[in-house]
Amino acid sequence: MAKIKRNTIQRQLVIAAVRFLADHPTAEEVYDRIVMEYPDISKGTVYRNLNSLVECGLLGRVSVPSGADRYDHILSRHYHIKCSRCGKFMNVENIDYIQGLDEKVAAATHYKMNHHDIVFSGLCPDCAKAAEEEEAQLLGDDAN
Ligand SMILES: [Zn+2]
Ligand SMILES: [Zn+2]
Repeated sequence: MAKIKRNTIQRQLVIAAVRFLADHPTAEEVYDRIVMEYPDISKGTVYRNLNSLVECGLLGRVSVPSGADRYDHILSRHYHIKCSRCGKFMNVENIDYIQGLDEKVAAATHYKMNHHDIVFSGLCPDCAKAAEEEEAQLLGDDAN
């Protein structure tokens, strides 16, 4: 009984941390957040709980190309975008999940589809501005 209770509390802590961090934390970030308040919790416990919460559908996990997996408290399917310069990672708002894509891939591969994830890559507005300024700087230097 005590064990079940402890497990429940740990799961709640992990879910609460993912919600609090909101912007798709990595497992490391979730652990860093929880350990601030509960210094006794181990990394293994946090990672194990993250995995089991994903398995039972209470948290989402996004595999990020050339980066650590991110955890998501939003459970409906949606797409993500990552800034290739600062690493900022966010939801793509207002683009619905393309159901037809799964059907097309199923037809092409004869797989029984689960779903698809898309992580777009680009420069966020801040980085695009910074890159533009750097470019202008470089061009300015050339002129001298
Ligand atoms: Zn950026
Ligand atoms: Zn998300």
